[in-house]
Amino acid sequence: MEIVVLRLGHRLPRDERISTHVCLVARAFGASSIIYSGQKDHSLEKSVGTIVDNWGGDFSVEYDNAAIGRIKRLKKEGYTVVHASMYGEPVEEKKGELAKLEKTLVVVGGEKVPPEVYELANFNVAVGSQPHSEVAALAILLDRMMEGRELERGFDSNFGGKIRLEPSKKWKNIIKKE
Ligand code: SAM
Repeated sequence: MEIVVLRLGHRLPRDERISTHVCLVARAFGASSIIYSGQKDHSLEKSVGTIVDNWGGDFSVEYDNAAIGRIKRLKKEGYTVVHASMYGEPVEEKKGELAKLEKTLVVVGGEKVPPEVYELANFNVAVGSQPHSEVAALAILLDRMMEGRELERGFDSNFGGKIRLEPSKKWKNIIKKE
């Protein structure tokens, strides 16, 4: 499954940390890239770039402030649009269909999501019916779409970075490539 994430409405300085976490969750749990709209943020792009440099993977970050146009284009290119929204249908009821998708654009919102996003989405999916966080919603949504494969030991070998961890009962076991 190919997964691209779109993070809507990044605001500076307010969303600096949360948007970085959205990017890191997207990368760690199986997306190949993230597009963000709102305010351009060089520091966000640099932080994520540093993680990718050290920890590996082909993950990329791209800024595009024309989010609606981008959603329309990606739909035309064959992506199914899955929008995380507390108003949507419960993820537990949709996960079977979501896991079968081949090319997916997962959209997570910011403060206010334009109504057009709900209309353009093929699925509006709720992760519980309470408001919480784009980071939590994205993590759980990706987990259901990947059917848990992103947590398997073997999944880590996809990254092939300069640094990797060996699980340890007691302490940090960091392995660095020479
Ligand atoms: N009241 C806002 C709304 O319209 O959903 C909450 C915004 S929340 C801070 C930012 C984003 O987190 C939302 O746009 C959505 O993508 C995601 N989110 C928050 N709670 C969610 C939930 N229960 N299910 C799915 N996504 C959620």
